[in-house]
Amino acid sequence: MDYDLIIIGGGPAGLTAGIYASRARVKTLLIESFSVICQAVTTDHIENYPGFPEGVNGFELIEKFKKQAEKFGTEFIAAEVKEIKETKPGWQIVTEDKTYTASSIIIATGASPKRLDVPGEDKFRGRGVSYCATCDGALFKNKEVVVVGGGDTALEEALFLTRFAKKVTVIHRRNALRGTKILQERSFANKKIEIAWDSVVTEITGSGKVAGVKIKNVKTNAITDFSCDGIFICVGYTPNTGFLKDAVPLDEAGYIISDDNCLTSKAGIFAAGDCRKKLLRQVVTAAGEGATAAFACQRYLENQIS
Ligand code: NAP
Repeated sequence: MDYDLIIIGGGPAGLTAGIYASRARVKTLLIESFSVICQAVTTDHIENYPGFPEGVNGFELIEKFKKQAEKFGTEFIAAEVKEIKETKPGWQIVTEDKTYTASSIIIATGASPKRLDVPGEDKFRGRGVSYCATCDGALFKNKEVVVVGGGDTALEEALFLTRFAKKVTVIHRRNALRGTKILQERSFANKKIEIAWDSVVTEITGSGKVAGVKIKNVKTNAITDFSCDGIFICVGYTPNTGFLKDAVPLDEAGYIISDDNCLTSKAGIFAAGDCRKKLLRQVVTAAGEGATAAFACQRYLENQIS
């Protein structure tokens, strides 16, 4: 085997698994994707990760996680994993250039923003359509933007955008927000934020770049043209598990099914972080599961030897 353990994914779950596995002297390779950007990295201000009462920038936090994993000996490569194959014993991890073998795997591939699937979304992507305010917010200085969604991401992005935009309209399909109460309170108190309740975006319009959206009121079915310079789509996430095909059981939404110790039904394959079926998706839970998965994996490897 090339490695005792290969971790797929370089977010908080994968990096914490790297720290724990390498400290246990498990020979570990972490494969980071260059196309999938870790959600924490694109979060400007994380204020619920313990130990940072003033909050912490997501990019800086994840850089620290990575330094810590490197310090203890985790090796890193950037590649896209295409497939996992069982070899008995162990596993093959197939990337576009090379195939690696490992006795065990921790899948920590996270989740990516969902699309809205409306006309104009692809046409204006990067020209007013964005999925990340931290990445693109500064482009909208003194402009009007809309944020679609009513969860934590939508509210955090809307609040962040008020630093730049002159007005932020949150378009939500119901009459109650899903996001955490503290974020709701801040959004209601912010004079730059307005909320369009019971409303959905049916089309993104413009020529060359976004000039507006068509909004449908789901109670009256009335459609209005709304002028704006940008649209931030924050309607949830899809797990990055497509490459697994039938390698491990997934739920109907594509999240990996695993037990309390992060073990899937396949011996030697563990899951951690946002790609895993579970109740709460946070940096702190991803890190906790990374530690659990690495510890359970260490036990698994020891049992293979004895
Ligand atoms: P989410 O909680 O699934 O919320 C998605 C929002 O988008 C919901 O309000 C949903 O409406 C709406 N929505 C879904 N599909 C839609 C569609 N096709 N058209 C219009 N609206 C649609 O997703 P999230 O806000 O990205 O959060 C994901 C996870 O990360 C959650 O567990 C969240 O708590 C966590 N998170 C936490 C923080 C934090 O703690 N600071 C920050 C960001 C994210 P309904 O409400 O009607 O379903």
